[in-house]
Amino acid sequence: MNEFSRLSGPPQQPKRLGLFINGQYTERANMEYLPRSSPGYGVDVSEVALGTVDDVNDAVAAARGVFERGSWSRMPGADRARILVKAAYLIRERAEELAYWETLEAGKPISQARAEINDGAGHYEYCAGLAQTLHGQTFNTYGDDLFGLVIREPVGVVGLINPWNFPFIVLSERIPYILASGNSVVVKPSEMTSYTTLALADILREAGLPDGVYNVVTGTGPVVGQALAEHRDIDVISFTGSTRTGEAIVRASTTNFKKTSLELGGKNPQIVFADSDLEDAADGVAFGLCFNAGQCCVSGSRLVVEEKVHDEFVALLAEKLKRVRIGDSFDEASQMGAVVSTQHRDKIESYLTLAQEEGGQIAFGGERLNITEGGRFLRPALLVGIKNNMRVAQEEIFGPVLSALTFRTEDEAVQIANDSPYGLAASIWTKNIDKALGMIRRVNGGRTWINTTIAGGPGQPLGGYRQSGVGREAGLTGVEEYTEVKSVHVGIGKRNHWIS
Ligand code: NAD
Repeated sequence: MNEFSRLSGPPQQPKRLGLFINGQYTERANMEYLPRSSPGYGVDVSEVALGTVDDVNDAVAAARGVFERGSWSRMPGADRARILVKAAYLIRERAEELAYWETLEAGKPISQARAEINDGAGHYEYCAGLAQTLHGQTFNTYGDDLFGLVIREPVGVVGLINPWNFPFIVLSERIPYILASGNSVVVKPSEMTSYTTLALADILREAGLPDGVYNVVTGTGPVVGQALAEHRDIDVISFTGSTRTGEAIVRASTTNFKKTSLELGGKNPQIVFADSDLEDAADGVAFGLCFNAGQCCVSGSRLVVEEKVHDEFVALLAEKLKRVRIGDSFDEASQMGAVVSTQHRDKIESYLTLAQEEGGQIAFGGERLNITEGGRFLRPALLVGIKNNMRVAQEEIFGPVLSALTFRTEDEAVQIANDSPYGLAASIWTKNIDKALGMIRRVNGGRTWINTTIAGGPGQPLGGYRQSGVGREAGLTGVEEYTEVKSVHVGIGKRNHWIS
C-alpha cells in the first residue's frame, strides 16, 4: 500500500513541484510558485515553480555540457536502448501514480489517464528499437575511386515546449525519439500540468540516463518558453500547442535559425457518407468529440454529413451523446471528465453563444453539469444549421462542441473538409473502400482514419498540413526530426581531384 493506492480525490495539501536540472531537483530560496487548481474539484492540487531565464540558462548549459562530453550522445545505440527499455518498465511500474496526477491536473477520467501512461511507455519500447537500427545510406555508384555515405547524427540540445491536454502522451511522443539518437533536452511542460514531466526525470535517472541529458524548467510561456525559443545554444525547438503561440515561437527561434518542429491546432472533419454504418459512425463521431472533453488536437470537431442522412444521423448522434457518462474523474465508469479551467469553460461557452448569433442552433447539450463541488463539467454540444464560413466552423474551440455541416457530392465533401486554415486530421466513414481511399487522397490531414477515429500507435507519425504544423513527431520520422544528416565522401586510392 503506497500513497497512490487510494487513487481518488485531491491530496490534502497541494504538492510543491521544483525544477530538475543536471540530474537534481532544485528549489531556490527565493523561488515563486503558481498554484494549480484541479479541473475536477476546483481546489489547488499542486504549486509549480516559476522558472526564470537564469534557470533556463543553467538547464541549457547542463544539456550542452553532457552532449559535448559524449556520455549519452556517443553511447552505443544498444546501450541507449537498454536505458529506454528500463524507462518503459519503470513508467509501467509507476503508472497509478502518474495516472493519478494526470487526472488531478488535467481533469481526464482515470481509465483514460492509465491508458495514456501505458501507451506512453510503448513509445520508449518502440524507440529502443530505433536507437539500434537508425541508419543512413551508402552509394557505391560513383566509380572506382569514390564511395559515398549519408550518416545521421544527433542535433544537440532540444528545447521542448508542451501543452496541458495530454501532458504525458505528448511528452512520450517526443522524449524517447529525442533521446534515441543521442540528443539532450530541456523541457517546459504547461504550467497547468507539470507533475508527470517532473516525475519522468526521476524515472529516467533511475533507468540510467546520465545527468544533464533530461532537464525540466517549469513556469510560464512568456518567460520560460520564450527563453527556450530564443536561446542561442538550443539547436531544435519542438513546440506543441496553439497555432498562435507557434507563431511567437517561430519568430523567437530566428535568433540562431533553430530547426523547428511545430504540432499545432486543428479543426478536424468527420466525413460521414450515407452508405456508412450510421449507428457505428455515430458512436465513433461521439467518441471523437468527447475524448478528453474535446480538448484534443485531433478532436473531430466538424461533422460533414451527407445531406440525405443529416436528420437521421443527427438524431442518432444526439442519442449517443446523451449516453456519454460524464462524471467524477476518479469514477472508473466515467467516459468524460471536466474541462481544464474556468477560463477555458467560459471560452467554450462563448462559442455556443456565437454559434447562435451566427444563425446556428444547439440541437443537443452545451449546459453546465454539477457533478463535483467546484468541478468544471460541460455536456457535449451538437450545433446544426452551421455554414463552413462561420467562426464556429473555422476556429479551434478546443472543447466538446461539434458543428454539423452537410454535403451532396464527394467533391463538395472534400471542398468543405479542406476549406480550413488547419489540416491536422480527418475521418472518413463509408462502407465503400474505393470511396474511402479516394477521399483519403484528397483531404488535408497528417493523421487520417477510415471508419474509426483518434486511434494511433508509436509507429505512425503525427503532424499537420497548413497551419496545423511543421514536421512530424513519432514514428521513424519522429526520430529523424532530431538528427542532422551528414554526407561523407571517401576517395579510394589516388584520385584525380581536378575536373578536367
Ligand atoms: P498554448 O499554445 O497556450 O501553450 C502551449 C505551451 O506553450 C505551454 O507550455 C505554454 O506555457 C507555452 N507558451 C505560451 N506562450 C508562449 C510564448 N509566448 N513563448 C513560448 N511558449 C509559450 O497551448 P495549450 O492551450 O497548452 O494547448 C492547446 C493547443 O495545443 C491546442 O491548439 C491544440 O490543438 C494544440 N495541440 C496540438 C497537438 C498536435 O500534436 N498537433 C497536440 C496537443 C495539443
